[in-house]
Amino acid sequence: MSQSDWPKTFSCEFFPPITAEGFTKLQTARQQLLALRPAYFSVTYGAGGSTRDRTVEIVLDTQAHSGISAAPHLTCIASTRDSIRELLNHYKAHGIRRIVALRGDMPSGMRDPGEFRYANELVAFIRAEFGDHFHIEVAAYPEYHPQASSPDKDLENFQRKINAGANSAITQYFYNSDAYFRFVDHCAGQGIDIPIVPGIMPITNFTQLARFSDACGAEIPRWIRKKLESFSDDRDAIRTFGLDVVSELCRKLLDGGAPGLHFYTMNQAGLTLAIGERLGLIAR
Ligand code: FAD
Repeated sequence: MSQSDWPKTFSCEFFPPITAEGFTKLQTARQQLLALRPAYFSVTYGAGGSTRDRTVEIVLDTQAHSGISAAPHLTCIASTRDSIRELLNHYKAHGIRRIVALRGDMPSGMRDPGEFRYANELVAFIRAEFGDHFHIEVAAYPEYHPQASSPDKDLENFQRKINAGANSAITQYFYNSDAYFRFVDHCAGQGIDIPIVPGIMPITNFTQLARFSDACGAEIPRWIRKKLESFSDDRDAIRTFGLDVVSELCRKLLDGGAPGLHFYTMNQAGLTLAIGERLGLIAR
């Protein structure tokens, strides 16, 4: 199947807030994002289990109160099989059916890498222990993972996750649609036959975006970087420009056959909804 043959799914990602105020804000954003008719809401997880309790709390609250399925992210670095099994059993008991399975990055200060080395081992473990109960999402990197020894090796490693039983993938964010289209073409050439949904990062704050992008290896094209730098602290100008750029990217991706969009919402509904409106996904 080509990417355009898969049904289009839209989804939104949250991170577990630290404060009660942050929790209330997330609940408000989540309620507003229902307008996008998302297939699921996902919740990130701190590698090494640093957000374990808060992730579980948001996942179960979302599953119980939003009317939309919740999909916990789960990282395996610095973890044991027993701790992962216990968490998955907990999710299963609460009706969770979708997991975003990741390796994560070794948290600073931790030394023991744990019992899993790579995400494909986590996917295999979930399949071995829980059969087909969970729909498994994995991460994909159209601009390649920063630690990959080569693009071909990275694609091979992506394929390992699918061979281990992943059902679909969400990409790292990117601002160059060609990177996505080339990546999915290479995947098709290797016989990879799962939906690969682009991850979309709305632009709100240049300093924060630049920091994230340096850490995760996502490229901010020079012309975007230069424009954002020129706006300095003018939040309205950043918002307007970012909305134009990201909406156009999403339009190109959907027109080119992408099987949906996954929004990194940063727990805010505004820009994701504005993009959804521009794309005609939300009735005004
Ligand atoms: P892997 O697929 O294991 O790949 C990691 C690196 O190892 C790659 O360079 C790959 O080429 C290489 N590799 C993989 N398998 C092998 C192998 N068998 N042999 C040799 N090399 C191999 N991080 C969090 O901490 N919490 C989150 O909630 C979270 N959510 C994310 C959601 C999405 C959609 C994405 C794209 C990323 C997310 N991340 C999250 C970040 C992610 O944990 C990091 O990018 C991490 O560095 C890699 O995780 P992975 O699952 O892609 O790892």
